[in-house]
Amino acid sequence: MSFRVATSLIGTLLVVLMSVSSRSIAQGPPGGLGEREIIHVTGNLYEARDQFRNTVFLVTPEGVILSDPLGVAFARWLKEEITERFDSTVKYVIYSHHHPDHSTGGTVFADTAIFIAHENTIAALNAPFPSNAGQMDLDGDGRIERAELTAPGYGGTFDLYNRNGDSYLTGDEITGDTPRPDIVYSERMSITLGGSRVDLFHPGPAHSEDMTILIFPEERAIFGVDLYHVRRFGVSLNGYDLEAYENAINRIQELDFDIVISGHGDIIGDRSDLPLFLGFLQALYPSVAAGIAAGESLEELLENLEFPGYQDWLLYENRRVGLITEAYELATNQ
Ligand SMILES: [Zn+2]
Repeated sequence: MSFRVATSLIGTLLVVLMSVSSRSIAQGPPGGLGEREIIHVTGNLYEARDQFRNTVFLVTPEGVILSDPLGVAFARWLKEEITERFDSTVKYVIYSHHHPDHSTGGTVFADTAIFIAHENTIAALNAPFPSNAGQMDLDGDGRIERAELTAPGYGGTFDLYNRNGDSYLTGDEITGDTPRPDIVYSERMSITLGGSRVDLFHPGPAHSEDMTILIFPEERAIFGVDLYHVRRFGVSLNGYDLEAYENAINRIQELDFDIVISGHGDIIGDRSDLPLFLGFLQALYPSVAAGIAAGESLEELLENLEFPGYQDWLLYENRRVGLITEAYELATNQ
């Protein structure tokens, strides 16, 4: 069962633009424009999407357990849908990690919800900038100008976060609609509500220091954001090496599940998608390192390095260039 709540011409145009646009535009603003939909995954588990990112929620007789809010506008829409369709309210919001393109918007649910995250989320939200944004403050003055807002995940978001309408973004503005967690955990945690259970699992540092994988044991499903993808590339390695991703993804693979839901993309996957994604990273890093060892420049690597078997994934050429560049910078400490 699935239904489409709203489709707009803007959404269609943006999907077309996604295939040709820059890395940052391809990621798009959280929860903002165009198409939104709720998809029934299985049992009481649903996925909610805009055209750039996904979240999940579990409906129980005593309320809803939601993962990322995906922005204020999206959260307002989702709150209405949950009221109208399920006659329910959100009792828990569980952050996948602190990056604002997923975590912002929780203020919409603050009247009914308890907020839960990994313990590292508190420090990450209280840092001068989120870990995927700090590099943009080039002069280190604690403010990001519109022209500086270039990091993946921030495309088109200046006005979204610019609460006071001035010429700069501060970290407080970026996290201003992200309630700090009421409850944190370190390794694992379980939440029960209305006879259903959600397990939280920290796979270790990869993509960010505060990652949470949500496990839905009755639905045999997991939800994870940005550290793995389903037949799709990440927008950034976020400064983590291959070993970090291998450790985290291998720990996830030890869990008991069948269904794999990701924070981006329109495919709900299965267990086989995790080794498939890891296989891309295991091709990326060593082939860049081998090229450097053979004396190849970044330009030569971008010209020569292809990944057979992954060329039919969405945004292949666009992401290939960005990810090779990042792996090169990591390997050469730039
Ligand atoms: Zn992220």
